[in-house]
Amino acid sequence: MADKTTQGTHPNDHHKDRAFATKLIHFGSEIDRSTGASSVPIYQASTFHQFSLDEPQEYDYSRSGNPTRQALEDYIALLEGGKRGFAFASGMAAISGAFMLLSAGDHVICTEDVYGGTYRLLTSILPRMNIETTFVDMTDIDRVKAALKPNTKAVFLETPSNPTLKITDIAEVAGWAKEHGLLTMLDNTFMTPYHQRPIEHGIDIVLHSATKFLGGHSDVTAGLAVAANDSLGRRLKQIQNGLGTILGVQDSWLLMRGMKTLKARMEAHEQSARQLAAWLEAHPSIAAVYYPGLPNHPRRDIHEKQSLGYGAVVSFDTGSGERTKRLLSKVRIPLVAVSLGAVESILSYPAMMSHAAMPREVRLERGITDGLVRYSVGLEDIADIIEDLEQALADSDR
Ligand SMILES: *Cc1c(COP(=O)(O)O)cnc(C)c1O
Repeated sequence: MADKTTQGTHPNDHHKDRAFATKLIHFGSEIDRSTGASSVPIYQASTFHQFSLDEPQEYDYSRSGNPTRQALEDYIALLEGGKRGFAFASGMAAISGAFMLLSAGDHVICTEDVYGGTYRLLTSILPRMNIETTFVDMTDIDRVKAALKPNTKAVFLETPSNPTLKITDIAEVAGWAKEHGLLTMLDNTFMTPYHQRPIEHGIDIVLHSATKFLGGHSDVTAGLAVAANDSLGRRLKQIQNGLGTILGVQDSWLLMRGMKTLKARMEAHEQSARQLAAWLEAHPSIAAVYYPGLPNHPRRDIHEKQSLGYGAVVSFDTGSGERTKRLLSKVRIPLVAVSLGAVESILSYPAMMSHAAMPREVRLERGITDGLVRYSVGLEDIADIIEDLEQALADSDR
């Protein structure tokens, strides 16, 4: 099937110099060229009639390319400042697609408190393809360097990490990786391109669970990948087409619908998250609070060097698993659920949810205690969010 890498002027080219807020609204496909319609049409078609076999058309089959999905792919590439974007059926489909750039015998260095699903992929699926991983604490560059082997091919970063929000210095790791010819990939789900654009700091591939902040409404499961250069873009295109793990057109459209309000949502989320973190920190019965915006958060200065904000995820330790379980049964505002990044607040319990696949000792070693909960602050009124937590915490002491 034809590869679309050879097309001339990229639709994004006219939009590159605008401010981020403007790019969110005017991204190249916001108006349908043929009718003037105010949103991208949903091309609900699996295939495309070839008018002439002598002249190749831009689209031939929807797994290989579809105008609605393409609009989304160009949109995320523009926002991340990359060359090409790719939309996948889920965040894990995007992440596993990126790992398909590797071959049997290769070695990966990965941040130790990586998303639970990525951990599962690296520890239970890729080893069967003879791809091995060393997990390291990436807050210490010497540990990253010490993990280098003759067969190391890639470094996988996630910062702030999940759920204890540890900070990796992106430029430091990416610069070192480049010296050794290693591919760098970064999961940017927690920050979104509104707060953090890893390609500007030397990262080769940015990955997203668009299910979270980019979609923003807990109604789409999707993944996005952005390649910093054309050659990686061509290779990812081949993988996306070859594996067939594409995002459908309806979900592509819904995702674009959500993404247009990313700035407004992220600003409001963050304002509330900062207040919640400060309130929790002052609370006498909370053992620990993790939020990059707190003055004493470890490596906050590094986070501020590479990010424009602190995000909306606040983790805290209630002191015990029993207390956390009581808390989860008492809260009335947040969803008690896996996931984050939505208009509604979501409270999750990593030990029993996102990190349940991790052996208990490994989990505790990584600071994911039985009392740790993760609060993704939604767009509700912050006074209500705090009042709700206050009553739930008071009740959970009984
Ligand atoms: C949710 C999540 C993923 C996985 O995304 P899915 O869309 O659920 O497949 C990957 N990384 C992070 C940081 C996530 O929060």
